[in-house]
Amino acid sequence: MTAPYEGGCLCGQVRWRATAEPANVRVCHCRNCRRAVGGPFFARAVFLAHDIERTGETTRWPTSERVDRLSCARCGTPTFAEPKDPPARLGVALTSLDDPGALVPEAHTWVSEKLAWAPLDPSLPRFEKGPA
Ligand SMILES: [Zn+2]
Ligand SMILES: [Zn+2]
Repeated sequence: MTAPYEGGCLCGQVRWRATAEPANVRVCHCRNCRRAVGGPFFARAVFLAHDIERTGETTRWPTSERVDRLSCARCGTPTFAEPKDPPARLGVALTSLDDPGALVPEAHTWVSEKLAWAPLDPSLPRFEKGPA
């Protein structure tokens, strides 16, 4: 697949569209991500902010000093992660893609906090914490 990529929340109130390739596509196994998305890991693509548009009302919650999480204000789907340090970027949940397989993870991060029963693709690089 190539850009553009599009997606949205469960109810359709929140939509996003990216017009360029993501900076990276990773699966994060950190505890913050798990709690934020209510799943065993967070598979997300990070786009530069100027390459992505989003519409719809979201709620915002800081899960750390470095990242805010944005969910649909109506259905609650955790859709975005917004890093606070530059450059301006927006992470989108791969689960929100209209075409579920359009973007594929290229690495696993924070494997040190991974759930023992959560699967890992053995062909992908893995990082104990964030990538260097
Ligand atoms: Zn929604
Ligand atoms: Zn994480």
